Amino acid sequence: MNEDELWVYIDGNYLRGKDAKISVFDHCFLYGDGVFEGIRAYNGRVFKLDEHIERLYNSAKAIFIEPPLTKEEMKKVIIECLRKNGLKDAYIRPIISRGTGTMGLDPRGCRNPTVVIITMPWGKYYGDLYDKGIKVATSPYRAIPPDCFSPSIKACQYLPNIISKAFANFVGADEALRITKEGFVAEGTGDNIFLVNNNTLKTPPSNIVLKGITREIVIDMAKKEGLKVSEENITLYELYTADEVFLTGTAAEIVPVVEIDGIKIGKGVPGKITKRFMKLYEDLTKKEGVPIYEEV
Ligand code: PMP
Repeated sequence: MNEDELWVYIDGNYLRGKDAKISVFDHCFLYGDGVFEGIRAYNGRVFKLDEHIERLYNSAKAIFIEPPLTKEEMKKVIIECLRKNGLKDAYIRPIISRGTGTMGLDPRGCRNPTVVIITMPWGKYYGDLYDKGIKVATSPYRAIPPDCFSPSIKACQYLPNIISKAFANFVGADEALRITKEGFVAEGTGDNIFLVNNNTLKTPPSNIVLKGITREIVIDMAKKEGLKVSEENITLYELYTADEVFLTGTAAEIVPVVEIDGIKIGKGVPGKITKRFMKLYEDLTKKEGVPIYEEV
């Protein structure tokens, strides 16, 4: 599909991609002053729509943005975008910016938040690496501590993540892993991390990372599978010596990690439990979600 021809929602209007333009005075463009979500639709259903909308509105609240749409209106507009584009499988990107304002930083200069919704086809985030697993490198850019800026806020300022990704590219890895100032494992540039050891899953606590919706799903699935799950600080050593490691995210889904900083994880191939979760997650995405083409 040609992006120029896709219908994009901006502040009450549906515009073709080529006409969907934002003011250069929009604070999201000037300062990264906004919040966003990344959602997927599978097989004609929007997966975990309520959870993503909830997080979007909490992110907005935490940075003093009052969205001009109610949550229900936002969901309806998302569905309408998907319908207009005739999409059944899609990536959905709602953005709430503080809007157009004066040049200064003072948010009082911006009167009306801008809402943009992009819906588009998007294949596998890590391409054909899901069978083989990915290589990860620890990023030199430390995770931002929660007392500096909460990692729970999905804000439009991904520069530390992007330069971490550039670093991963530079060293020939597929993804970068960010570490806290204290030296504990935090998260990838767009995904959460899990390790598996002796039938126990471990993932960093949710107050130092984005509380991923896929992360929550995996925690639930693990409990249902009778596996132990713990949310606790993880060292790089624990990660290097784990039986299995995988990443989770809406865009990334579940992807096995087979190498970190040049160290082979387990046998250097996707692990049994990781593969089981990949299958369980895929099954879930096929049957759950808000239907796009039925009345809502
Ligand atoms: N961490 C970061 C930094 C992310 O950008 C994402 C993607 N939203 C995640 C984790 C995974 O979150 P989710 O499973 O909700 O997509």
